[in-house]
Parts: sequence; structure tokens; C-alpha cells
Amino acid sequence: MNIVLLGFPGSGKGTQAKAVSEKFSLLHLSTGDIFREAIASDTPLGLEVSDYLAAGRLVPDKLVLKIIKARLAAETKGLLFDGFPRTVEQAQGLDDYFTARNQAVDAALFLDVEEAEVVQRLGSRRTCPKCRKIYNLLSSPPLNMGLCDGCGGTLVLRDDDKPEVIYKRLSVYKDQTEPLVAYYRGLGNFHRVKGGRAPEEITAEISTILGNSVKT
Ligand code: AMP
Repeated sequence: MNIVLLGFPGSGKGTQAKAVSEKFSLLHLSTGDIFREAIASDTPLGLEVSDYLAAGRLVPDKLVLKIIKARLAAETKGLLFDGFPRTVEQAQGLDDYFTARNQAVDAALFLDVEEAEVVQRLGSRRTCPKCRKIYNLLSSPPLNMGLCDGCGGTLVLRDDDKPEVIYKRLSVYKDQTEPLVAYYRGLGNFHRVKGGRAPEEITAEISTILGNSVKT
């Protein structure tokens, strides 16, 4: 089972990806996390992508596809992509990869949240760099201010969740990523899921969709 999660930055993809991948034993692949980890560890990949992330621009398709394919080569589990694909070219690259292996994207799930809501959410989002748990200072704050409930890590505001970068990311999303809604709708594996609700409610709806429409 291979699943793609679509939606504005801040629409809840990361939170849902964590819950759904655990529930269905899928490998959670977040290109954003891969890039942030590379930057934090000062690898050559990190050096190559850091300016793109800092500016809220997309890393070039060729490089993204190379990184993803290198990860997939060793995987036998079902996959849950979070933040990938982000352009039609990336989606086509993924389809070509799966087609050559007699596989497919089984479902594309679009988390539909209003733009005004994601702006507010991104500004109050805090993440744990150690275990990747995501908090919102307004709707789901940690028990101890500034510390992760799960692992005790120090929560951070991502550099690209600062106001000036948020607006750039949203405009990049509208120009380059939103066309994926039509792309997957055309392939017939598209599901719209209303966001902006309690995370557990959304996970339950996604689980029903995956249980009903996807062969495991
Ligand atoms: P995210 O954590 O998914 O919001 O990604 C953070 C940043 O990483 C984005 O603003 C881009 O700069 C970069 N990035 C993540 N995934 C991709 C992708 N699939 N294609 C291009 N750039 C990406």
C-alpha cells in the first residue's frame, strides 16, 4: 500500500502521517524531515538544500527524485509520503518508478484546510527535532512549556515557520503543488479529507478510506 498526503504546509500532514503510518505499519517518508536532518548533520546534501529551505523555495525535482529513489530501493514496506511529491514532475517520476515495479500510488489524500487557518497554525507550531512530534501552542500545547511530552526534547520553531517565509511557502504551494490535486483526481485515486478538525477524527476518516479503498 503506497499513500501520498497532500495539503498546504500546516494542514496537518505530518501529524496524520505519523498516526496513519503507525496504524497501518507503513514507512513514513517526509522529504522535509530528510532535508532538515541532512542540514542538522552538515552532510553534502544538507549544504546543497539549506538555501532552498531557508527561503521557502522547492528543492529541484531532479535532486528530490534522486533522494527518494535511493530511499525506496531498500524498502519492502508500504510507503506513506508526506510532503512529496510537490510538483507534477515529481508525481510523474514517482509513477514511473512504481509502474516499473508493478506498483502504484494506491491513494492520494488531500487534507483540505483554509489558507487563513494554516497561516495561524504555522506561526504557533512547535516541533520536537528528536522524535518529530508536532505541537500547536494554541490547540495542542505540550504539558511542560518548551519540552516534548514524549521524549523531553527541546521544542523549536522551524526557521521556515517564521512569518516572512510562511507567505513564500504558501505561494510556492499554490503555484507548484496545488496542480497535484487535479493530477491525482485524474488518476482516480484521489480522496478529499476535511482538515481543521480534531486530529483523531481525521485519522479515523483516513483509516476508513484506506480500509475501504485500498488493497493491503
Ligand atoms: P516540509 O517539512 O514538507 O514543509 O518541507 C520543508 C521544506 O523542504 C520545503 O519548504 C522545501 O524547501 C523542502 N522540500 C520538502 N519536500 C520537498 C519536495 N518534495 N520537493 C521540493 N522541496 C521540498
